[in-house]
Amino acid sequence: MYHGIKHFFCALLVFLGFSIFFIPPAHTNTPEEQAFIDSRPAITVANEFDWPPFDFITDGKPAGFGIDLMDLLARKSGLSITYVNGHTWEELTKMFFAGRLDVIHSLSVTPERQKKALFSSPYYHSKNVLIFRSDTRDIHTLNDLDEKIIALPKGWSSIEFFKTHYPKVHIIEVESSRQALEYVDQGKVVATVEQEGIARYFIKKFGFTDLELSGWLKNEILQETSSMHFAVLKTNPILFSILAKALANVTMAEMEGLKDKWFSRSGRQIGQEDVGLTPEEQNWLTTKKQINVCVPPERMPFSAMRGNQVIGMTADFLEIFGERLKIPFHINPALSSEDAAKQVETGGCDIVPMISKTLARKTRLDFTSAFMDYNVVIISREDFPFIPGIPGLKSKKTAMVAAGNIIEKVIEKYPELDYILVETIEECLIDVSTGQLDAAILSLPVASHYIRETGLTNLKVAGHSSIKEDMRIGVQKDNKQLHSIMSKVVRSLNHSELDMIYQKWLGSELEHKTDYTLWWKSMSIAGIILVLVIGWNRKLSRLNKEVAIAHETLRQKTDELEHISITDSLTGVFNRRHIDAVFELELKRSTRHDRDLSIILLDIDFFKAVNDTFGHQIGDTVLKQFATLVKNNIRATDILGRWGGEEFLIICPEINLQNAVHMAWTLCRSIASEGFGVAGPQTASFGVTSHKKKEKTQAMISRTDKALYLAKSNGRNRVESIS
Ligand code: GH3
Ligand code: MG
Ligand code: MG
Repeated sequence: MYHGIKHFFCALLVFLGFSIFFIPPAHTNTPEEQAFIDSRPAITVANEFDWPPFDFITDGKPAGFGIDLMDLLARKSGLSITYVNGHTWEELTKMFFAGRLDVIHSLSVTPERQKKALFSSPYYHSKNVLIFRSDTRDIHTLNDLDEKIIALPKGWSSIEFFKTHYPKVHIIEVESSRQALEYVDQGKVVATVEQEGIARYFIKKFGFTDLELSGWLKNEILQETSSMHFAVLKTNPILFSILAKALANVTMAEMEGLKDKWFSRSGRQIGQEDVGLTPEEQNWLTTKKQINVCVPPERMPFSAMRGNQVIGMTADFLEIFGERLKIPFHINPALSSEDAAKQVETGGCDIVPMISKTLARKTRLDFTSAFMDYNVVIISREDFPFIPGIPGLKSKKTAMVAAGNIIEKVIEKYPELDYILVETIEECLIDVSTGQLDAAILSLPVASHYIRETGLTNLKVAGHSSIKEDMRIGVQKDNKQLHSIMSKVVRSLNHSELDMIYQKWLGSELEHKTDYTLWWKSMSIAGIILVLVIGWNRKLSRLNKEVAIAHETLRQKTDELEHISITDSLTGVFNRRHIDAVFELELKRSTRHDRDLSIILLDIDFFKAVNDTFGHQIGDTVLKQFATLVKNNIRATDILGRWGGEEFLIICPEINLQNAVHMAWTLCRSIASEGFGVAGPQTASFGVTSHKKKEKTQAMISRTDKALYLAKSNGRNRVESIS
């Protein structure tokens, strides 16, 4: 039989199965049965150690749907039960057939078993499916498993089935269904076979978010094994008839009650506190003594460093993990998510908490399944129109945070996107708020947190993306023990814990807005996809309104903001401080990605004469018009700043020297052909350079300066470059 069944008792009706009900006859024991009950104060019944929600141990006591059902049968018949705990399924079946256990439950029928035992009518029937990782290709049916390795729990009838009918499939026998799923999750095997209802339950309950189910397997022999029964040895027919009668007496309401208790969403949370570590894993932890964690800087509400303490959701998660694994986590600050990943990769740290999985990182770290995920959104100013996703940002000045968690994901999905790197989340939002940039791509909780922190009241969620930021633990690659331990502890998180942490860090920010809080709640975990798919647009406009209202109350920080302004007040382009910072960042970025970067320094010719002839005010007007003209004649991705006086700097990412020179000449001619009011036509001179490997910012600027000087000395109204 197929052990799946075993546990299936329960799942009865629950997910998809059908169940068979009986019209309950009055329960009366025959004198023979009564004599048995009187002579046996307690019968022994199997309880598997790790099969929630069917049978397992919690707080040292047997629990589960199967256990409750057996208790119900005992009450109805007048029997009492002693559960035999702490054994695997394989051990329990052996004990049962050796006559050392009176009853085993949640078990399927096989001809072999029927020779020795009496089986009750079925409680549950479900179809078997394959469970594999969502990144697995080409595995959909049993035939796809030839020469592949799968995991099956020891003692399951499905092992016999494969050996007989699919001998080319390699089987690793594991201790439990949960372990089988863990093996699939960790890539140790390609698949396992489980009944659909149970598989779904486990996936949801233990957060195996990377696992997927096949359709029902088309094999009569395999599918016939998926009904659940209890069994009593043929040597004990009286006990069997007592229990069978009691089962027939279970009412539909009683069955529904059990179902509610163990399977409904609001039902009891079962067994989460049990991480399910193996003795080897336990030993590994004991020897390890402490786990070193690398935490990236400021990224609330996920994490931030305060001294050598971590705050934010990460702190709460680590506290739960530490308690559950009984091991301290030692916090080490990292410079960025990237740096944290690197430290884990090179052995400086063991894990990085709350990091998302990207293709690039996958080759460097192992990841647990995701325990939270959030949508990545587009933030813009209030007056901006709705932006239909990231492709809608074409020709918009879009910011992403250089050291951030999502940048890699965004680039992976939208390699064509033009974006500007900004050092911090605050800077990103300020740039958008003050109009230096059009939009920022941020994860929703992060955006919400920092909009509130900075008090930037003119920002809104202008659009959503199809990108999710999935929060996982990144573990040192090939550290199999630690990966398995962290995967288990992540899956041990239950809904109320996740909800509590979510509420604490996100709900509280918005608690004065009942409706808003509700919206956020609905965005959490399970709801997020649904909410986005259904009625995003409707909610978006509501959210925007609510964001605006929420921000009205947070105006106190606006004064501070004026100081941090990055705009040159005369010309409206970036000021020197900001263009300096942007240049520094762009240089880092082009170095990191080995991309071109050119800069153009331009200076108005004989500008002193304008002031002298027409006065300073006219001079100012010319400067303004000049800046606007330049801004309108460069690419959206080029960055213009006032370098000083009548000198401007243009940063041109992804452009080589030849193209930058060409661009400068175009500008040069446009300027020369423009009239500047009473001041008449003006010209400017241009110095152009491209970044050389390992060149520092200062060296590149001074080269550009020299090129500009050359343009001046070669007669002005021209472009010179130095390579
Ligand atoms: P060259 O072609 O060699 O660059 O000649 P130039 O006259 O432009 O050179 P110089 O750098 O000596 O003069 C720049 C002048 O720009 C000096 C200063 O009065 C003027 N200037 C700098 N900032 C401002 C400003 O904000 N407003 C106005 N109206 N003039 C400014
Ligand atoms: Mg000048
Ligand atoms: Mg000058």
